[in-house]
Amino acid sequence: MNKLNIDKLIDHFPLLKTLIALQPVSWFNPEITPVEQGIKQVGLNQLDIQQASDRLARFSSYLRKAFPDTAKNDGIIESEIIDIEKMKQQLQLDYGKPLVGRLMLKKDSHLPIAGSIKARGGIYEVLTHAEKLAIQAGLLKEEDDYGKLYSESFKQFFSQYRIAVGSTGNLGLSIGIISAKLGFSVSVHMSADARQWKKDKLRSHGVNVVEYEQDYGVAVEQGRKEAEHDANCFFIDDENSQTLFLGYSVAGQRLLKQFNDLQIKVDQDHPLFVYLPCGVGGGPGGVTFGLKAAFGDHVHCIFAEPTHSPCMLLGVHTGLHDQISVQDIGIDNVTAADGLAVGRASGFVGRSMQGLIDGYYTLTDQTMYNYLGKMARLEGLQLEPSAVAGVIGPMIVSENSEYLQRLNLEHHKMVNATHLIWATGGSMVPEQEMQDYIAKSVR
Ligand SMILES: *Cc1c(COP(=O)(O)O)cnc(C)c1O
Repeated sequence: MNKLNIDKLIDHFPLLKTLIALQPVSWFNPEITPVEQGIKQVGLNQLDIQQASDRLARFSSYLRKAFPDTAKNDGIIESEIIDIEKMKQQLQLDYGKPLVGRLMLKKDSHLPIAGSIKARGGIYEVLTHAEKLAIQAGLLKEEDDYGKLYSESFKQFFSQYRIAVGSTGNLGLSIGIISAKLGFSVSVHMSADARQWKKDKLRSHGVNVVEYEQDYGVAVEQGRKEAEHDANCFFIDDENSQTLFLGYSVAGQRLLKQFNDLQIKVDQDHPLFVYLPCGVGGGPGGVTFGLKAAFGDHVHCIFAEPTHSPCMLLGVHTGLHDQISVQDIGIDNVTAADGLAVGRASGFVGRSMQGLIDGYYTLTDQTMYNYLGKMARLEGLQLEPSAVAGVIGPMIVSENSEYLQRLNLEHHKMVNATHLIWATGGSMVPEQEMQDYIAKSVR
C-alpha cells in the first residue's frame, strides 16, 4: 500500500488513528450475522466438525500410549474450566466498577503435549495427514485400534515423509512434538519472536529448527518454499488451513458438554461471552466457529490483540483482510505476546468469520504483564503474556453500552452472564522465564 492510499484509508476509518498511535481501542462489528447464515458463509458445517471430533477419538488410543499424560483423559486432549473469583474481585478493584455475571477461565494453557491452544489445531492437522498416508498405503483402516501406530514399523513408514511449518513458537512446538513422535522428519521455521526455550525444546525432540531475524510472515513463507521443492513434504499453512481450523473447532462441542455437566445455562437470558487472544486468527476463529455451532446465537466471541499487532481488527475493520498488514500503517508488530505477534491476518478467517465475531480490542504489553502477575499471585496459574490478553475483555464489554443495547443484553440478562476467558498458553514456560515475566508486572 502506498502513502496516498493509507492517508485515504485513515480518512475513511478514523479508528486507524488510534491504532497507529498504539492506544488501546475496541471495535464491535455492527454487522454481525445470525448463526445459521453466518455458518453458511464459512463453507464448513456441523458434519465437518463431527468428523474432526471422530478422527480425534480414533487417535485417542495412540495418544494414550505415545503421551502418557493424556491417559487420565482417555487420550482426549482437553482442558478444564474453572471459576476465578479472586481475579473477578481484582478486576472490579482495578476498574472501579462491578463486573456482573460469573467469571471463568478455560485452561488451554494446561493442555497436554504442547501446553497451549495449538495442541488443538496443530496436532489435529498432523494426525489427519498421518492417517491419510497410512490408509493410502494400506497400513491402516478407520476401524483399527490406532494404538498400533505407536510402533517402530510405523515410525519407519512416516520417516519417509516430511512436514514443514512457520511459527512464532507454539504452533511449531505442537506440530514439531507430535510429528517427531510419529516418526516424520519435521522442520519448524521460527520467527524472530520465538522464545529460545521453545527452540531448545524442539531440538531436544529431534526437530529441525530454522531461525529467522524477521517476523512470522517471513517464517511462514520460507516453510511454504521448503515444501514446494519436495513432493514428500507437507506444509502446514497456518494462514489458510481449514484442517487446522476444524481441529480448533472441536472445542465447541467439548465446552458444551462441560457446561452441561456444571449446569451452566446458555440461552437468551443467560448470555455467554468468550474472550480469545488472536494472532493470525486460526485458533480463535476455529474455536469461535465451534462455539457458534454448539451454542448458537447466545455465545458472543470477542478477540484480543496487542496494540503492536492488531492485524485482525485492522483487516476486518477496513474490509481489506489479508491485503493489509499492520506494518503498512506504520505499526511495528513487536510485542512480548509472542503467540500474537502477527502483522497480517488470515484471509480465510477474517473473510469467512467476520459475521460471527462480535468485537475486537487491543491492549498493551504492560497490561498483559500485569495480569500475568495477578494470575500467578491470585489464582496460582502460570500463563504466558499472549494467554492473558482476554482477561480485561469482560470490563471492555461491560463499558460498551452501545453494543449491549444493540444486542438487547439488558442488565437482568447480564447478571446471568458467564464470561469465559480463554487462557491460551503458559504451563510449559520454564521457571526462570516465568519469574522474569512476573518481575515485569506492576501491582
Ligand atoms: C497461537 C496463539 C494464539 C492465537 O492463535 P492464532 O491462531 O495465531 O490466532 C493465542 N495464544 C497463544 C498462546 C498462542 O500460541
